[in-house]
Amino acid sequence: MVYLDNNATTPLDPAVAEAMAGFLREHFGNPSSLYPIGRQVKELINAAREHVARALGAHKAEILFTGSGTESDNQAVLGVCDALPEKREFVTSTVEHPAVQETAVYLEKKGYAVRHVPVDATGVLDLDAFRDAVTPQTALVSIMHANNEIGTIQPVAEVSRIAHEHGVLVHTDAVQTFGKIPVDVDALGVDLLTVSAHKIYGPKGIGALYVRKGTPIRPFIHGGHQERGLRAGTENTAGIIGFGEAARLLADRLGPDAERVAVLAERLKAGILSRIPKVRMNGHPERRIKSTLSFSFLGLESEAILLALATKGIYVSTGSACSEESDEVSHVLTAIGLRPEFARSTVRMSLGRFNTEADIDLVLKELPEIVEKLRKISAFDPEEF
Ligand code: PLP
Repeated sequence: MVYLDNNATTPLDPAVAEAMAGFLREHFGNPSSLYPIGRQVKELINAAREHVARALGAHKAEILFTGSGTESDNQAVLGVCDALPEKREFVTSTVEHPAVQETAVYLEKKGYAVRHVPVDATGVLDLDAFRDAVTPQTALVSIMHANNEIGTIQPVAEVSRIAHEHGVLVHTDAVQTFGKIPVDVDALGVDLLTVSAHKIYGPKGIGALYVRKGTPIRPFIHGGHQERGLRAGTENTAGIIGFGEAARLLADRLGPDAERVAVLAERLKAGILSRIPKVRMNGHPERRIKSTLSFSFLGLESEAILLALATKGIYVSTGSACSEESDEVSHVLTAIGLRPEFARSTVRMSLGRFNTEADIDLVLKELPEIVEKLRKISAFDPEEF
């Protein structure tokens, strides 16, 4: 199998699997229990919290474990808006993940004024439009760190600076940058930041939200006192242990992984662009997550390419994993101005820690043949493009 869908999810790192298996075998205590088997689990959770905090340049008291990146995004947006009821405006971008985008729709239904700041043709936020969108009445700004479909990195530090000039709080969804490039909460200047374990070779169903000390926020899950009263419910203990281990590994792995993956991605990109005619690469040429490659194979339907590659054991995705089951054209590709027929021909390849030279060789061998064959049967006319 050649797995090129690491933006959708990553395989569990063997060291993470080992840490989780050991934990599950030895510890069943409830971390809220005061006797030793409970206290031990609490301590292990706090060690994991420390690993996640350290990987983000944060303090461990600023890390809240949640059930997913999606929940972290919801908690950030709804939790801050709830804590600042006198402010009724929310500012975001046109290319956010549905976890923020749909939460914005919900806020709109609740009567909030929601502003969607546009991006340019490479996916970079229009900072002038952003400056105009933020007012002292804005409860929160949420601008993602890097886009999951095209990999474009946003000027989040600049976003924070502008928002803070108006006394406005900033959240960023860093799900697609954490583990791929350095993510430091102080360098970004953000007040809240979302991460998810299953994108960094950890388990699914566990995320975290960084909440800068002093940030006004209310819970939206009510019950017990877990997570300092911000997220009720007995903790996903094994998930937290796995997340901690995955974050701990980043200290040694992030740099070497990023370097190696960038070389593989560059080879794949150069190979595709030189061997296949009429291909458009989407996203920013430089300000990008190097491992994320988005190509439009003009004249074709992306599903046909995806399925043909899958028969060769090569797994990629159309646009994004989240839109896989819907017929709608991706809002991200629309936001960068891609014509619908180009958007429908778009395939995302996202590399990760476990990809090899041989994986790239296989894709470069199979993909040009697949595209050529599909174009033949679709009566592709290159003059049309
Ligand atoms: N935000 C971004 C940018 C993502 O790419 C994803 C996952 O695809 C999420 C949020 C959601 O994370 P989770 O799958 O943990 O809910």
